[in-house]
Amino acid sequence: MGWPGWFLPAKTLKMILFKKSSDLRHWLKSQKEGGRKTGFVPTMGALHEGHMHLVASCRSLADLCICSIFVNPAQFNDPKDFEKYPVSLEKDIEMLTKAGTDVLFLPAVPEIYPQGETGLEKYDLGELEFILEGRYRPGHFQGVCQVMSRLLKLVEPDHLFMGQKDFQQNLVVNRLIRLLQLPVQFHIVPTIREADGLAQSSRNRRLTPEQRKNAAAISQALNDIRQKMVAGDTGPVLEAAREILDAAHFKTDYISISRSADLKPIVNWNGKEQVLALIAAFQGDVRLIDNMLLN
Ligand code: AMP
Repeated sequence: MGWPGWFLPAKTLKMILFKKSSDLRHWLKSQKEGGRKTGFVPTMGALHEGHMHLVASCRSLADLCICSIFVNPAQFNDPKDFEKYPVSLEKDIEMLTKAGTDVLFLPAVPEIYPQGETGLEKYDLGELEFILEGRYRPGHFQGVCQVMSRLLKLVEPDHLFMGQKDFQQNLVVNRLIRLLQLPVQFHIVPTIREADGLAQSSRNRRLTPEQRKNAAAISQALNDIRQKMVAGDTGPVLEAAREILDAAHFKTDYISISRSADLKPIVNWNGKEQVLALIAAFQGDVRLIDNMLLN
């Protein structure tokens, strides 16, 4: 399922690394004065082909591609999840350089949170904060907003690139952009999958070989929903998807058929409204999420 975009010859084999916000700000100012349009790809590292797809999209629209790697403590509701988050910095730098990234911003935690992580601002995210991911990861989306507001105000990109895999996060970031009235164009890039359908994810590398085999059941369940979806009661379709996950030893947080605009659950589909299916489930202690547009 790979997309060959990032095998294109890199426009430069040099990538500039900044660790300090002030240095990055200073450098960006001179580039923007020269009229260069900037694109931004925020990540938490442990990079894979999905991230490279974002970089390739960024390169195709912007003059400068700025990437960040920052494992944001504020968005981890479970400290163990934060501690176990995979890190592969050397390989990440190699991949980003090969992909033609111009700048990597690699801040330490105090650079992003100089006053620490308490007493931070609160964003009004409405229901989005509390449903689906929000219900199972309390505080997660406020944490996402903390880091995204800081990064966006620092980089002030013309274009922002994020992946469809984190659908709810994209709705949150879209709302944040409107709340902060930032003049950035937001681009959602399709999910890159392994050959068996598993969405590429940094967390996949924590799966044992057996769990890795089972993990394909998430995309099978999503495909099953898409194939069976008809107007009317969504209950039976959801039930069949749950059986697929159960058979693969998943412990499911949620399976939802939701309205694409605001993720409101759809109990009775009118056959017309834009909908998607979303799943979050544990394979062992690894929590995976995925989604699929249904029409
Ligand atoms: P992360 O490093 O997991 O926070 O992800 C950084 C960005 O990469 C987010 O915008 C994700 O939605 C995106 N992303 C993660 N996995 C994939 C994938 N398989 N395909 C495309 N984009 C992805």
